[in-house]
Amino acid sequence: MKTRTQADERRLEALRGAVVQANRDIVTAGLVLLTWGNVSAIDRETGLVAIKPSGVAYDALEPSQLPLVSLETGEVVDGSLKPSSDTATHLAIYRAFHSAGAVVHTHSHAAVCFAQCHMPIPCLGTTHADHFLTDIPVTRSLKQAEITSKYELNTGLVIVETFREQSLDPAHTPGVLVDQHGPFAWGTDTAKAVENAIVLEACARMALDCRSLTGAAPDPADRTLVEKHFFRKHGPKAYYGQTSS
Ligand SMILES: [Zn+2]
Repeated sequence: MKTRTQADERRLEALRGAVVQANRDIVTAGLVLLTWGNVSAIDRETGLVAIKPSGVAYDALEPSQLPLVSLETGEVVDGSLKPSSDTATHLAIYRAFHSAGAVVHTHSHAAVCFAQCHMPIPCLGTTHADHFLTDIPVTRSLKQAEITSKYELNTGLVIVETFREQSLDPAHTPGVLVDQHGPFAWGTDTAKAVENAIVLEACARMALDCRSLTGAAPDPADRTLVEKHFFRKHGPKAYYGQTSS
């Protein structure tokens, strides 16, 4: 492993701080009961991932305690605490989705309801389309052998498989439901990943309520409207918000 420079250390310190803040933010946002959630972020230059330690109370987290894990090997290279048990899932997402700078996993209520019913979160309107260009997909269920051996890694691999098989771009669909489990969301940094996790849960709640209002699955949102909303905020032709001149 290459020696870390002072610049590397400064970036990693900031990364650990951002990950601690994001782990608190998902609690404040109402996405987490008990310790059902974890956030990580990656420094692509060193190939190191800062992730929440396993089973540690969110308000007691100190940035210097956060484990730094090698993207390549999964080994802890820094920090005294054991990393989240979901670490291998986060690493599989970073290895395959190069646009992901941070990953959020929660068991937020409405999203878990969809995951437990094997249903994607349908794109029904512009709230969803402002952040996700497509339905938020649900993976297939894991096979017995995938559960009994390397479960967390296989959870990540089935996410990657879902995106490959459905030809989805993880930068355009920054979240997924793992079947019978719950949501993972990601973004270019911790703030974006947390925002996407919040929107994912809000859209799941809205979709549930739409279904209960009509008693059936509502029609999907108009594709022209969806693409208009997504691409005015994302990509080279984005124009939403304040632009610097
Ligand atoms: Zn979980």
